[in-house]
Amino acid sequence: MTPNKIPFLDLVTPHQALEEELVAVFRQAVSKAAFIGGPMVEGFEREFGAFCDSPYCVGVASGTDAVRFALTAAGVTPGDIVVTVPMTFIATTEAISQAGARPDFVDIHETTCTMDPEKLRAYLEEQCDFNKSLNRPIHKRYGVPVSAIIPVHLYGQCADMDPILDLAAKYNLIVIEDACQAHGAEYFSRRHGCWRKAGTMSHAAAFSFYAGKNLAALGEAGAVTTNDEELAAKVRILRDHGQAKKYYHDMEGYNGRLDAIQAGFLSVKLAHLPDWNAKRRTAAARYNELLEPLGEHLALPIEPEWSRAVYHLYVVRSENRDALREHLAAAGIDSGLHYPLPLHLQKAYESYGWQPGDFRVSERLAAECLSLPMFPELTPEQQQRIAQCVSEFCLSDVKQP
Ligand SMILES: *Cc1c(COP(=O)(O)O)cnc(C)c1O
Repeated sequence: MTPNKIPFLDLVTPHQALEEELVAVFRQAVSKAAFIGGPMVEGFEREFGAFCDSPYCVGVASGTDAVRFALTAAGVTPGDIVVTVPMTFIATTEAISQAGARPDFVDIHETTCTMDPEKLRAYLEEQCDFNKSLNRPIHKRYGVPVSAIIPVHLYGQCADMDPILDLAAKYNLIVIEDACQAHGAEYFSRRHGCWRKAGTMSHAAAFSFYAGKNLAALGEAGAVTTNDEELAAKVRILRDHGQAKKYYHDMEGYNGRLDAIQAGFLSVKLAHLPDWNAKRRTAAARYNELLEPLGEHLALPIEPEWSRAVYHLYVVRSENRDALREHLAAAGIDSGLHYPLPLHLQKAYESYGWQPGDFRVSERLAAECLSLPMFPELTPEQQQRIAQCVSEFCLSDVKQP
């Protein structure tokens, strides 16, 4: 890495700092040949559950598995519709399809970039008929029940859960939070009159510990959190070939367990997560201060008063996004796009027949979003340089293509 280059994300420094502790985990696992299940997995599940204020936590092999197992364990059955947003990583809809359900979308809200409760209301009222005997909305066009919704806590900020949960209660829908980007994010519930942690507000939530997430394994890992003991027990069975007792299979499950070594690594890193999240919040506040003078040239992320975000990503918006990105790259500053193409326009979903214009807010965000470097070790000097470079671009005339 040249001294002038600013990476999008620094995965090396935190692991160097923890190297001795991580190696000790590896030695311990090797000395006992304890690679699957056992105290490291149970220990991490307990610790991460406590971190989330969640009574039950089940470690699984990835965030994608976490979403899929949560859906199935909560009662989504093949043929159901599960509604999420088009502005998310494809794992959300992959998990829906893998659970045998059909993904469908409602758009995000302009300011929060998460599920728009009004769009969800319109979907349920206008596109569905409520069937009293099934106690479920039936989609008018597809003739199948809508059984669940997945709000995604995108970029580390919770979706506006109160109105979403109200609608879910009214229409008897399962709610699974996709909290894969939101470890430790908080939401102030006006209904409950208190702050609630991401992963505790619905039937179950999915977390990912993929490299680059706020809490990351040294490989692949994920977890499901829930307040429901029975649901947790079902996820435990699903992750382990459908067996509660060895070689007695209540159902077909998956090979979706959390490796013991990864659980041990995660325990080491979890101890630092509150500090890392605080540093991300500080870095976000510093960006806000530095970039605020750019006014209408650059839209900054908005944190409503009900949100304490953990800034998995710091995403700004510009009408000249691609040119801005090139300008930054020329100055040695890396950036990211989350995400450049909303899911309804992906080739993978061509057969569903969605068209440009179907989810306009997501489409606009996809065209304008730019993720600036964001990681706990990002320094004020680096941020100064990034802001300088962004300002140069926004306040010059060369930006017009
Ligand atoms: C990362 C991510 C996932 C999937 O997690 P994996 O561990 O990579 O399987 C799911 N949803 C969202 C929103 C994510 O960011």
